[in-house]
Amino acid sequence: MGAGERFYLTTAIFYPSPKPALHSMFEAIGADMIARYQRLAGRDVRFLTGVDEHSANVERDAREQGIDPRQLIDPWATTWRETFERFEISADRFIRTTDDDHAVAAAEMVRRAQANGDVYQGTYSGWFCTGCNEFKTDQQLVDGRCPDHPRLDPQWLEESNYFFRLSAYQERLERLYVENPSFCEPPHFRNEVLGWLREGLRDFSISRSGATWGIPFPGDPDHRIYVWFDALTNYLTGAGFPGDQASLDRWWPADLHVIGKNITRFHCLYWPAMLMSAGLPLPRQVFAHGFMLDRGAKMSKTQGNVRDPDETAAVFGVEGVRYVVLREVPFDRDADVSTDGLVRRYNADLANDLGNLVNRTVSMSNRYLEGRVPPVATATADADLGIRDTAARIVERYHAAMADRHLDEALAAMMELAGAANGYAEGQAPWALNKAGETERLGQVLAVMAEACRLLGHLLAPVAPASARRIHEQLGVPVPYDERGAGSPGFDVLLAWGAGPENWQTGAAAPIFPRIELEPAS
Ligand SMILES: [Zn+2]
Repeated sequence: MGAGERFYLTTAIFYPSPKPALHSMFEAIGADMIARYQRLAGRDVRFLTGVDEHSANVERDAREQGIDPRQLIDPWATTWRETFERFEISADRFIRTTDDDHAVAAAEMVRRAQANGDVYQGTYSGWFCTGCNEFKTDQQLVDGRCPDHPRLDPQWLEESNYFFRLSAYQERLERLYVENPSFCEPPHFRNEVLGWLREGLRDFSISRSGATWGIPFPGDPDHRIYVWFDALTNYLTGAGFPGDQASLDRWWPADLHVIGKNITRFHCLYWPAMLMSAGLPLPRQVFAHGFMLDRGAKMSKTQGNVRDPDETAAVFGVEGVRYVVLREVPFDRDADVSTDGLVRRYNADLANDLGNLVNRTVSMSNRYLEGRVPPVATATADADLGIRDTAARIVERYHAAMADRHLDEALAAMMELAGAANGYAEGQAPWALNKAGETERLGQVLAVMAEACRLLGHLLAPVAPASARRIHEQLGVPVPYDERGAGSPGFDVLLAWGAGPENWQTGAAAPIFPRIELEPAS
């Protein structure tokens, strides 16, 4: 499937802080699983992530410390990029909105909107939340405060600014959602967007005056480009806009923007209107994910319930972290995580079901067969074909879940195959076959188990690539793609039953997911 096609996906760009917290990494980890899945499917993938650096808060913090904003932000951006690399985020580019080519792209987007008659100067007044970086309507405020930032005082601001004529795109956006509802997924977040669309669109401010931190506004040196024409344009910068036409032809429109559910308004209403104004094609889909919660509450520094990704990885390993957060938090909605819940999930799925299956398969093959696994085609008992058919059904569910971005369901399906293969092992009892001297049947049973493990390695690779590689090494199976999943012949080839090597020889067994023995703290 999909060989030779391209797939361009992005995360949102993140507001900078000294170091990412685990709940911020969640989006990048989920998008990375999708990127790796698409590479394994045989597609040529471009994956963009990065940081949004031109916030008023950065300018203010730098001024308070008496330094240039760049001096404040450079070490933060480095830490974010290095943390992403440690967590195997296989991005092709880590974009910073202070990058030179991005300033060119953002200015060009403003110029195109100006040329199209969509920019005018006006005065805006209203309540402004410095946490969200946006004006709030009276209906959005709760007891006069931003519900997302109840500790910040909203500020009454009057500004003479440039505005983008979003209201002129009302009908075209309505038509977009009639013709292509899946532009915004999942449906429960799309319904919010449609509600805002029904209320009627308001023009939005695209410049700030008096600031020195930010991209200069075309045609007015007293203004800087403000938030959305800067931030959203990063997706175009990453595709080569405006200067590199060959790259743009290759990568634009994006196939998928992965974002948090709190910024659907901007990605699902502002962004398509900006692209229409610029005469550019729209991305194929915006997918909004939910949040990782702590006992029902949002994770934030002010709440004091932030998880450090490296401290979490010290317990679970990087790939253990990647697996448990994507398995425990359905990508399309909010869910609680707790340390003991994550430990239970890790031990049940990775240490017991999957780890144990691989370990017993490789160990028994080495002990009983001198590592020589016969062709699985010789295994034709009902139970053998039952596992083959179960695997086929599970692979289908895995792909369907990935198509819907239901990453947790894909992982659950994968673990069902591990469970079925362990059940098969119990039922066939290769240790008893060995004792009884039934060598031929013993070989068939271990061939089925090894084949199930080979498939599981490929299904695991998008979420835990290095562990998947270790599984294949221990099995003695060549891996026809690189560490990022590139170069794959596609899932149809990888997952074909019986596609294991001729003269299959298993390697040395070693535990891949050691059990976590931890007295849970919460
Ligand atoms: Zn806010």
